[in-house]
Amino acid sequence: MISKNTIERILDAAQIVDVISDFVALKRRGANYTACCPFHNEKTPSFSVSPSKGIFKCFGCGKAGNAVNFIMEHEQLNYAEALKYLGKKYGIEVEEREESPEDIQNRLRSDSLLNVAEFARNFFVESLKKSQSGQAIALSYFKERGFSAETIEKFQLGWSPEGRSAFCDAAIKAGYKKEFISGTGLGIEREGSGELIDRFYERVMFPVHSVSGRVIAFGGRTLRTDKSVAKYINSPESEIYIKSKSLYGIYFAKSSITRFQKCYLVEGYTDVISLHQAGVENVVASSGTSLTQDQIRLIKRFTPEVTVLYDGDAAGIKASIRGIDMLLEEGLTVKVVLFPDGEDPDSYARKHGGEKLKRFLSDSEEDFISFKTSLLSEETKRDPVQRARLINDVVASIAVIPDAISRSVYIDECSQRLSISPSILAQEVRKLRKKRQYGVYSAVENESEEKVPGTPEYFPDLNTGEQLPSFVRNTYCEPAEKDLLYYLIKFGESPLYYSKNREPESSITVSQFILSELQNDDLELQNLVYKSIFDEYFKLRGVGNEAIMKHFTGHVNPEVVSVVSGLIHSQHSLTVKQFRDSLTPEENVLAQNVPKSILLYKAKITSTAMQNLNIELEKAQKSGDQEAVESFLRQLQILNNIRNSFSKELHRLTL
Ligand code: ATP
Ligand code: MN
Repeated sequence: MISKNTIERILDAAQIVDVISDFVALKRRGANYTACCPFHNEKTPSFSVSPSKGIFKCFGCGKAGNAVNFIMEHEQLNYAEALKYLGKKYGIEVEEREESPEDIQNRLRSDSLLNVAEFARNFFVESLKKSQSGQAIALSYFKERGFSAETIEKFQLGWSPEGRSAFCDAAIKAGYKKEFISGTGLGIEREGSGELIDRFYERVMFPVHSVSGRVIAFGGRTLRTDKSVAKYINSPESEIYIKSKSLYGIYFAKSSITRFQKCYLVEGYTDVISLHQAGVENVVASSGTSLTQDQIRLIKRFTPEVTVLYDGDAAGIKASIRGIDMLLEEGLTVKVVLFPDGEDPDSYARKHGGEKLKRFLSDSEEDFISFKTSLLSEETKRDPVQRARLINDVVASIAVIPDAISRSVYIDECSQRLSISPSILAQEVRKLRKKRQYGVYSAVENESEEKVPGTPEYFPDLNTGEQLPSFVRNTYCEPAEKDLLYYLIKFGESPLYYSKNREPESSITVSQFILSELQNDDLELQNLVYKSIFDEYFKLRGVGNEAIMKHFTGHVNPEVVSVVSGLIHSQHSLTVKQFRDSLTPEENVLAQNVPKSILLYKAKITSTAMQNLNIELEKAQKSGDQEAVESFLRQLQILNNIRNSFSKELHRLTL
């Protein structure tokens, strides 16, 4: 918590023109200032700053706010972080909530490590500029690589000199504690004597920055051609450097990524630097390792679109293709650019220059799944075994994409490329998604398994072949939601059906089925009480139906108690042919009733969404907005088809 007093002092001190000028070149126009907007890509300035009002506004993209909002948006910080940033800029101490002694310890230690890293950066930069070997060896190497003086300065490149402890000696002399020097990994304690020796010596140095620009680690490249010396070495992990969470270049790239809504992904330091120098600044590298989920989420803070740059070496491509499914899984749009054989982004940029590079990047960019499909189908032309493997591979990539619409677009596209029917592809994708959701074997896989007579053969896949489009997701239908909750609370732990030998293990449970059906369409219950019960249910799972009902009827929240008691005690108002079924115990017809109630739920959502769309359509027709009219008509058409297939399926189930 930052006190009100402090916030006011910061807001007073933070002159908006001064704050924004750190990032954007503002031009005075009358009482205001203008520039090209840093938040979207534009050629004529529509970004305006009013010093008297203390606000900015972009007339192009609509972003607006005060100095704090600008920093939050531009640096992707939260409110408190933005205030701290401004506090630092204007020398205002930002006191926070009381820290525990442990917090203080950690903070002090991290600060100390960061200070050592900053000292090291300065030391390496100085040594590049001032030492004999720095000039003779390192600087001439950078020049030979084509790095300009500005580039060297911007990326704070340096040189770790010869000798086994030049850096550590300097750091100790400057008063840094051994504990922190070794804590950053820059110094290594020698066994026995406890003396510190340098991790990096005789290497050109690449500092690694955090998102906010602090130095947290280093990479060092040897200039020797000796094969026994590792070409690159990197700082080890520490409190300030968690490899899986940092990306090389993110600090220098973030505003450009935001502006162009795209992030290029390359292999390492030199690619990032060369691309920057060639004018492509929205680029980061994961430095030698394959991407992690945290790194992907870091990119996602700035843009949902990633383009991976591959050098033209086929073996390398195939090795890294698997990693890319993770990008898809996080909901990113993934494209690839394949460089000509023998070229990498660095060499291409150097050889051809910025203009040609930019043209090449935009001309040869290809969607990842299409790229993968055609790459692999080249080699598997007539071999049916290989072809099957390829199809599975493509299906695997499509199945991880969270958005249902994107999945269906890919299914269409790939079915053409692979000449395979879209419905087969769609079915495979659905199977795989189910399998992923249950995390274990599901009954779908073993289709030959005999079922108890009376168990519908469609089970457990609701065979409508349809997936709800995203625009219906938040439609609310009270009775249908209640039905689902009823089955969940009362029978959630029961097997949905019994196999021939009546072993429940071979079936999935009612709750698994409901969960997967909702997740498949990204649906969430809209009634907040129902939703809280639903979510809590999945934390309890595994204790048995009785215990679960008891938990909810004794719940601390009286609303929950009332809803759940109502569900399990009253005669439930099932839409299904309840009178016929009331003769058989409900457990025995779960395999029919649960899928049916899900279908009814989805059908209800669909028709409610159609009603809403019809209202919008009428409005659009009245106002003569032809584009909107067409869009609504298209959406209605989609929903109409879905509704028809739902009714067909329902009809079939009810026979
Ligand atoms: P060369 O001049 O021989 O092409 P290079 O310095 O460009 O050498 P490459 O072997 O081409 O290095 O590596 C490609 C990219 O991968 C470079 O950007 C490099 O920074 C990065 N890289 C290579 N090895 C490592 C490593 N062990 N750790 C981190 N980054 C690495
Ligand atoms: Mn190289």
